[in-house]
Amino acid sequence: MAVSCTPPIASVPLLRWPSFSIRNTVLLAIATAVLLPTAVLWHLEHQLTVSASEPLIEQNRKAVLMVTAAALVEPLWTLDAEAIDKVTRQLMSDPSVLGVTLTENRPLVSPHDVQRQGSLPGAGVSLRTAVQREGQLLGLLELRFDPRQIDRVIADRQRSTLQLAALQVLLTSLVLVGVLYRRLLGPIERLKQQASAMASRGEVVPVSWDRKDELGQLGQHLNMVHAQIGTLFEQLEHQKADLVTVAMHDALTELPNRTLFQELLAKAVRSARRDGDQLALLFIDLDRFKSINDTMGHDAGDLLLHAIAGRLKAALRESDVICRHSGDEFIVLLRKVRNWDDVAATADRLLRAVETPVFVKFRDIHVTASIGISLFPDDADDPETLVTSADTAMYQAKHLGRARVSFYRSEFNSQVNATIQLEQELRTALAEDQFVLHYQPQVCARTGRLLGCEALIRWVHPVRGMVPPMQFIGAAEQCGLISELGSWTIRHACAQIQRWKGAGLAFGSVAVNVSALEFRQHRLVDTLTQAMLDYDIQPHELEIELTESVLMTDTDTTQRIVDDLHQLNLGLAVDDFGTGYSSLAYLKRLRPTKIKIDRSFVRDLPDDEDDRVLVRAVLQLASAMGIQVVAEGVETIAQRDFLRDSGCGVLQGYLISRPQVAEGFEKFVRELDKQPVEAEPATALNGG
Ligand code: C2E
Ligand code: CA
Ligand code: CA
Repeated sequence: MAVSCTPPIASVPLLRWPSFSIRNTVLLAIATAVLLPTAVLWHLEHQLTVSASEPLIEQNRKAVLMVTAAALVEPLWTLDAEAIDKVTRQLMSDPSVLGVTLTENRPLVSPHDVQRQGSLPGAGVSLRTAVQREGQLLGLLELRFDPRQIDRVIADRQRSTLQLAALQVLLTSLVLVGVLYRRLLGPIERLKQQASAMASRGEVVPVSWDRKDELGQLGQHLNMVHAQIGTLFEQLEHQKADLVTVAMHDALTELPNRTLFQELLAKAVRSARRDGDQLALLFIDLDRFKSINDTMGHDAGDLLLHAIAGRLKAALRESDVICRHSGDEFIVLLRKVRNWDDVAATADRLLRAVETPVFVKFRDIHVTASIGISLFPDDADDPETLVTSADTAMYQAKHLGRARVSFYRSEFNSQVNATIQLEQELRTALAEDQFVLHYQPQVCARTGRLLGCEALIRWVHPVRGMVPPMQFIGAAEQCGLISELGSWTIRHACAQIQRWKGAGLAFGSVAVNVSALEFRQHRLVDTLTQAMLDYDIQPHELEIELTESVLMTDTDTTQRIVDDLHQLNLGLAVDDFGTGYSSLAYLKRLRPTKIKIDRSFVRDLPDDEDDRVLVRAVLQLASAMGIQVVAEGVETIAQRDFLRDSGCGVLQGYLISRPQVAEGFEKFVRELDKQPVEAEPATALNGG
């Protein structure tokens, strides 16, 4: 289909006014309006002069002729030649007379002829008349007049007219230009300058307009508009600045956000590359911040983040940049780094800044941070890799146990990848039930009688074989699988207790290890209650082992869980006692049923004096508080004897038995049953 298309017709004015400035237009108008009428008037005046002068001069000439003729009558009558000469000479004094010829009416008398020197004979205008007396002809008088006299008169007249006209033009122009300039052109020029100042958005200097006419009003309006525009621009600038701040900063901490940081980092990398400088990037992640949010609420979490952001900023130099990357992650950029020791010192300062307790909602909150550091240009040459490297290093710090600094090195990558792989494998292991529980007996120190056992998890890896818990519990905690793993342990331990009871195998309690992380989740109590219900477990048949670190992060949730466990009548054992920072106050609040002296204090017994003192002190303390003591890692008879003689009630260790699968443990129990039992002392603390 053909589409016809007509081009738009541009409106072209037929007559275009030449683009003169107003000043030139006014000058042109004055010139035309004053000069043109003057020229026309002058021309008309010339015509009038010419037409008016000619008859006058004609009359004048005739008058001269008649007067001269009258003056000659008497001399001609009396034939007075002297008088005749006098008249003719007098006549020649008139400059308009060129020549006089008097012809007497007497025979043989030659005419009186006087001609002006230089004038051609016969030139000019000739007039003749007869001189008569009483009807008698006395002579003929001929006068020649100069024809240029008219021209001279006209020229004189014209000159004076011209002078007048010039004077008029001058005066009119002066007056007009003066008035127009003062009243029109000057103000217009000021308006123009005022408008240009507005257009250039220069400083607002109001122009004073005291005149009341239209231009003055226009000027005042311009002043008002200028002032309004100025205010508007100011508001716009403020709004723009506000918008930029909002868009580029984090609302909670007021630190630069990720977008602004990326810009600053890119700039820093460019200039460092140019100047051959070194940079350091610190990726800071708060440890277990999520649990603070979960237990104390998000508003408390926000207050904490705000406080920590302020502290981090205060711990840095002016030239350093810190941003909130996301959630509980911050990134710090250190410029002009001299050596890595300085970087490590700064990182250390930041760690300490985070670790100082923060007072939020009427209590002190303790948090730690893990910091990963990457270096430019050693670790990465561009901003993105620099950030990912620092992130990787941060994961490394987490992996190494949190609350620490870790520098990025190329091998870190592979280690972190290994962690990721481990996490994936753990998920599969849970789904495919690749775990198994081993049981290690706890016996009475005096009689050797079986008092219970501890359930210890192992991972039967399809490739790597038996994997000890130390190699995967940390990863499970980190990737959030720990509570699933915890409930697996609890349910399997309960199921085993039920099976053993069914098989008539009766002994004390089975202790289950619970991670400190699980201890901050309400799910733990539900899992325990449900498992005890499902497998018909009595409270004295199950025991919970928790490490001292649980006591250190003493939150409301922890306390509530402890209370719930007491409500369930479950035994509580403090594991690895002595390795953490247990305080008597915590012990009092937790009210554990057991304390397990850590293997490290048992190892060098009985030779090590310090260990001896320490173990005895713990035993005395526990005895005073009515708490049973279990010694872990008992490997030698000497250790056993010392512990027993010092009053330790329960022993656990390779000397008695290594942890074994359920069947192995059963065999151990049956073997033990066959042995003769020594007499038991009465105290419950001494082996219950
Ligand atoms: P733990 O609770 O202190 O457990 C005792 C550890 O000492 C066990 O290591 C055990 O095999 C070992 N052991 C026992 N007697 C001796 C001895 O005489 N000499 C020496 N050298 N070692 C002895 P295991 O089984 O490798 O467990 C290591 C840690 O893993 C446990 O330390 C516990 O903290 C954790 N764990 C074990 N099972 C679980 C579980 O089901 N859940 C959780 N959350 N943690 C568990
Ligand atoms: Ca334990
Ligand atoms: Ca232990």
